[in-house]
Amino acid sequence: MNASSLQTKINYTKKIVSRVEKFNRKHKALSFLGIAYAFVAIFIYNFFFYLYRNTKRFTCLACIILFFISSSSFSYPGLSLDISFDSDIKITGESEGDIAIINQTIVEESDAELAVINDVDSAVIEEALESENPDVVEAEHLDPDKQASLDDIISAGLDENVMEETSPEEADIEKTVFDRNDWKIILVNKQHPIPDDYEFPLGTIRGSMRCDERVISPLLEMMKAARKDGVSLIICSPYRDMDRQTMLFNNKVDKYMDAGMSYMEAYNYASQAVTVPGSSEHQIGLAIDIITDNYSSLDEGFANTAAGKWLAENSYKFGFVLRYPEGKEEITSIEFEPWHFRYVGVDAATVMTTNNICLEEFWSNFVE
Ligand code: ZN
Repeated sequence: MNASSLQTKINYTKKIVSRVEKFNRKHKALSFLGIAYAFVAIFIYNFFFYLYRNTKRFTCLACIILFFISSSSFSYPGLSLDISFDSDIKITGESEGDIAIINQTIVEESDAELAVINDVDSAVIEEALESENPDVVEAEHLDPDKQASLDDIISAGLDENVMEETSPEEADIEKTVFDRNDWKIILVNKQHPIPDDYEFPLGTIRGSMRCDERVISPLLEMMKAARKDGVSLIICSPYRDMDRQTMLFNNKVDKYMDAGMSYMEAYNYASQAVTVPGSSEHQIGLAIDIITDNYSSLDEGFANTAAGKWLAENSYKFGFVLRYPEGKEEITSIEFEPWHFRYVGVDAATVMTTNNICLEEFWSNFVE
């Protein structure tokens, strides 16, 4: 500290002290106020004096902190992008609806991101949202080798025993509490990924089509019962392994990034269209997509076919439930999928069907 600064400081202190002395002489009863004032005034003066004398040092420090914050991944992108597994964008069937929803999402984001999203080809986003369910990522369900009707399965030489006349299991309706460790009711969704140590016996339906071995028998019973009622059921895309799901997901992310999105944005949009690897029921062999003779699109129209109606009415008797029902989109985060059936066992399927609840609700109410 040089001499003139020191002098300024001493002068200021003297000035305050003499002012307080004067005040205290006039108002003896309030002398404590004068002393408090002196302390505060001298403290504040010294504080700013110190800041002033170290301006360069503090400026450097502030610059470093600002630089660190602005270049850190934990700062603004994470806060505003809202990357989460829970889908915020409700994907609706109509493309106009989609655009409206995307616009709404954009409004919630910061201006910087708005600019980025505007740069992205809107046709790509539209196209992306058209493939609104995880099952329509690839048209493999149209490949005859990736389909299996009852006759295909029989001719593939699957165990004839399961083809014997059997009536569906009788449901134990008394049962109201289910064991959370029961493999049949395992809850798999974006919030509940498949446990790392999950194991199951993989059985072959036909050719490369596989699923959990324990599901094949009830599946065939169901197909047989449907045939009796004059309804044809054709199975497609049952089990998908992690590699395949990851490949489908990464392809989608790449596509969005090519269209100009950042990785975070691409990931967010991809997770709307393709189930995040590790959270698809197809990976645990308990989900099966079903089509019928004259209707092979995986879309809502399937619900109006004879097969769609028959399944909605009867699948629970064989332990299968329509996993993503209409009206439960808020809970499942997945659009109505009348073709996607999940094996949960006859007891759970009966409870879910009679109470009109989805698997998530079933877990909240009936699983211990
Ligand atoms: Zn499916």
